Amino acid sequence: MTVEQVKALVRNVPDFPIKGIQFKDITTILDDPEGLKWLRDEIVNHYKGLGITKIAGIESRGFIVAPSVAIELGIGFVPIRKKNKLPAETVSVTYQKEYGEDTIQMHKDALNVNDVVLIHDDILATGGSMEAAIELVKKLGVKKVYVNCAIELIGLEGRERLQGKAEEIYCLMGMEVDE
Ligand code: AMP
Repeated sequence: MTVEQVKALVRNVPDFPIKGIQFKDITTILDDPEGLKWLRDEIVNHYKGLGITKIAGIESRGFIVAPSVAIELGIGFVPIRKKNKLPAETVSVTYQKEYGEDTIQMHKDALNVNDVVLIHDDILATGGSMEAAIELVKKLGVKKVYVNCAIELIGLEGRERLQGKAEEIYCLMGMEVDE
C-alpha cells in the first residue's frame, strides 16, 4: 500500500467531539487488513536497528498498534495511562489542555536508565499530550526517547513544540487539518 492509499482510508468527521474540530478517525484504517498491516510494518521498518528497548503507548489510541510493533521488534510494551488507572507505584505529569488540565501516569518500574524508548500515539496535533509523555518517560531516567505518531496534523506546530525533546519525531503521514 502507498501512503496516499492509507491516507485515503482516514475518515474525516466534522464537528467531533465539539463544533469546529475535524476529527481524524483512524478506525477506518484499522478495519482494513492491508491498512492495519501497513501501519505496523512502517513503524517496525523505521525503528528496527535503532536499539529501541521499549515501546510506550499513550492511552487509548496509542494502545492499538504499539503492542504488535513490540512483538515484531522483540521488545516490551508499556502503557501511559490517565490518572488512577495503574495499580502499582506510579510517576505522574500534569499538563494544560485547551479546557482544564490532565494527568498521565506510568508505573515507576516500567522503564529504567538502560532503556531506549519509543513513545507512540495515533495523532500529533498541538503536541501537548506527547510533550507530557516525553516528560513522564524522562522522569524514569531513560537513555533516549523517540517519538512516533501515525498522523501529524500540519499547521498545529506539534513538531515545533517537541523540538529538542526527543532524538527524532517521525510520523507516518502528514495531513492538513481540513484535508
Ligand atoms: P495534542 O495533544 O493536541 O497533540 O492532541 C493529541 C491527542 O488528541 C491524540 O491522542 C489524538 O488522539 C487526539 N486528537 C487531537 N486532535 C485530533 C483530531 N483532529 N482528530 C482525532 N484525534 C485528535
